[in-house]
Amino acid sequence: MTEKPMKPIVRFAPSPTGKLHVGNVRTALMNFLFARAQGGQFILRIDDTDRGRSTQAYEAGLKEDLTWLGMVWDDSFNQSARFGLYDEAAQFLRQNGHIYPCYETAEELDRQRKILRTQGKPPIYNRAALGLSAAERAELESAGRQAHWRFKLSGKMVQWNDLVRGAQKVDTGSLSDPVLIRADGTYLYTLPSVVDDIKADITHVIRGEDHVTNSGAQIEIFEALAPFFGSASAPKFAHTPLLVGKDGKSLSKRLGSLSMDQLRERDIEPMAICSLLAKIGTSDPVEARSDMADLVDTFSFSKISRASARFDEAELTLVNSRLLHGLSFEDVKPRLAALSIGGGADFWLLIRSNLVVFDDVKVWWAVVDQALQGQIASEDAEFCALAADLLPEDLDADSWAKWTQTLKERSGRKGKSLFLPLRLALTGLARGPEMDMLIVLLGAERIKSRLRGKNA
Ligand code: GLU
Repeated sequence: MTEKPMKPIVRFAPSPTGKLHVGNVRTALMNFLFARAQGGQFILRIDDTDRGRSTQAYEAGLKEDLTWLGMVWDDSFNQSARFGLYDEAAQFLRQNGHIYPCYETAEELDRQRKILRTQGKPPIYNRAALGLSAAERAELESAGRQAHWRFKLSGKMVQWNDLVRGAQKVDTGSLSDPVLIRADGTYLYTLPSVVDDIKADITHVIRGEDHVTNSGAQIEIFEALAPFFGSASAPKFAHTPLLVGKDGKSLSKRLGSLSMDQLRERDIEPMAICSLLAKIGTSDPVEARSDMADLVDTFSFSKISRASARFDEAELTLVNSRLLHGLSFEDVKPRLAALSIGGGADFWLLIRSNLVVFDDVKVWWAVVDQALQGQIASEDAEFCALAADLLPEDLDADSWAKWTQTLKERSGRKGKSLFLPLRLALTGLARGPEMDMLIVLLGAERIKSRLRGKNA
């Protein structure tokens, strides 16, 4: 009997200490698309061990955002509900000499780092605490010092084959032993993440490349915990290049305005965001996709470039408008109804290519449906009145061409001076939908009144 290939299980692990923005949405997408492409599971892990900074409002917000984006998770859990498990894992590491107590204060550590730097040496923790005798530790504790706990790195070269970056090496001898438990007993991110990855059978850790060094240390923690959980070794890793601005500079200062709630407020389509974030920094072109399945089908780690992905807001706007231009009436029917727009397929097909955001539809509906006084310059008043007199009674798709031909002959006008006054008188705007269909929707009565300068 052949063994069934293992379906991937991945997780997106945001900390609910801020709003979801384009940077972390890209990480979420990479996890989601990979899971769906492989028929695997996408887990949402809420990294809320920092009780001071995590809030329920942020957690609710990020869940709302992921749902809005169409990234439905198969399971979700909060780290804050799992401290018992982390305590057990920490106890095992303690008993097996993988973590050791340290007593230096933050100021002492800072001073040591400064000294090392002035000596031109890397600021690596000196492991002085490893040399403390039981009596010295007892003395420090009786003097009121609380231990924080560091993981003892092997000092060896940790290697893995990264699904995006290829062969990776991290020399753990060049790193400080990471602190896993603070002096107040709280956990830093490092240990709970590994424990949860083991417990949830995570097969692939997909995250930003700012975690590469961290992965070197975490792989050793996976190995140290394997006997306790009876698990295999570390999962596979994929570290994606960071998102930068179009100028190649960090987006960090702009991320506030690039949060999902801000983009939603600006009426950007969720699928425009996904279409762009799934493809920038890959070998695929950025195309407006209205169906997540298209992004799933074309996902592959091998397409992700090693260079940073450039995010350009103007490109997002462009993808958004292209997406709208391709939507069918069926796609938008409920949305039009929600805005109390009674226009049918004719209306939608006429105006969709003028939309940058969906909300623009209101402008065009007002032009077609509500009384409006167009713009008529004094030098065009006579021409517009003539146009009203010459307008055919029954309007169809050919009427515009015939009408403007007659007008051209009768007025001697041509080009812009022929067409623009008509558009301005009928819509109040210098640009907009094709006039041949617009006049059919407006109807002869309304057109004549507007051409005569009436509010109609
Ligand atoms: N909460 C961590 C972060 O946002 C998760 C990192 C990881 O994916 O392991 O950086």
